[in-house]
Amino acid sequence: MNQKGLSEKEVLSMLDTARLKDASYDNVLSAMCTRPHPVAVKAHMQFIESNLGDFGLFPGTKELEEKVIALMGGLLGDPNACGYITTGGTESNIQALRAARNLTGKKFPNVIVPSSAHFSFDKIADLLGIEIRKADLDGVFRADIGSVEGLIDENTIALVGIAGSTEFGQIDPIDKLAKLALSHDLVLHVDAAFGGFVIPFLDKKYDFDFSLKGVTSITADPHKMGLSTIPAGGLLFRDMSCLSRLEVDTPYLSIRKQHSLTGTRSGAAVASTYAVMMHLGKEGYRKIVDGCMKMTARLVDEAGELGVEPVIDPVMNIVALNVPAMDEVRKRLWARGWFTSITRSPRAMRLVIMPHLTDEVLTRFISDLRECLRE
Ligand code: PLP
Repeated sequence: MNQKGLSEKEVLSMLDTARLKDASYDNVLSAMCTRPHPVAVKAHMQFIESNLGDFGLFPGTKELEEKVIALMGGLLGDPNACGYITTGGTESNIQALRAARNLTGKKFPNVIVPSSAHFSFDKIADLLGIEIRKADLDGVFRADIGSVEGLIDENTIALVGIAGSTEFGQIDPIDKLAKLALSHDLVLHVDAAFGGFVIPFLDKKYDFDFSLKGVTSITADPHKMGLSTIPAGGLLFRDMSCLSRLEVDTPYLSIRKQHSLTGTRSGAAVASTYAVMMHLGKEGYRKIVDGCMKMTARLVDEAGELGVEPVIDPVMNIVALNVPAMDEVRKRLWARGWFTSITRSPRAMRLVIMPHLTDEVLTRFISDLRECLRE
């Protein structure tokens, strides 16, 4: 560090230089995050110093968090759900399974996830000493219920279902998983990190939330399709019996107990989520999801005209395309400024059609894809 500080102007200019190296979301078709809504940014700045790790000092922000959880619970089948705003899907998944482990108190616990589960579950295995068992998928990449059932034994503490899988945007048969969980007296955690702010606004209806009796907890991230600022994840429990299993005593804070994984945590993300949810309302989110779904359908149609088919018909705004010579084509697209991603099995080009994309951007992307296929 310099002995003498630099002027604000110098520092800001250094930041500008760094920022210019970052990708602009305009050409990003690989990310599950997007530009936050302007009202979310304003709210974030207003609450920039608020710390919910010590919420006795920030009762106003804490009230907002309770309101956000009630709003999210309302979207996810139970306005009386409890929980808190986390740093994202990873923390929510960790905490949901930590609560399940603490609730059951088993010595060698295992959890069954579909093999489509996000890699946060591999971190959980490492962190929590939980064995993660991966169930097979059916022909359209949903958890195979027979395979899940076959993996259950006396040490199983929880099942996990995915509502909006990272790679294919697929929704597991959560109703069947819920029945299975109830019949074996297991926790069912639903990872709707991406789908939580999509599925409620789709034309087609899916059972995936607390309206199913067997669902214990849900991950749903405002910083993905919720258009909030980063870091805003959501972890909701049906009741306090699970949430309370996360509490530790906090002797020297303004509060007695804390249930979050992190200590200091952003009140700004809470304010931002509250602001954008109140501002958009269900109607606003429906319009956004609708726009993304229309662009997704268009992309599939126009890719089809190039002889490129999707691996499955998209369920939400995520498409996996069977692109010939994919690695080469992705390199060519990258050279033209496009960020795409992949699915693992089968290997395909994964595209996430987020609200920062527009029809005009898609026209350019499809035209570049056409040329990159020919080159
Ligand atoms: N769960 C799912 C289904 C996801 O798609 C992701 C991220 O892509 C996560 C969890 C992890 O979320 P985060 O990156 O916010 O920790």
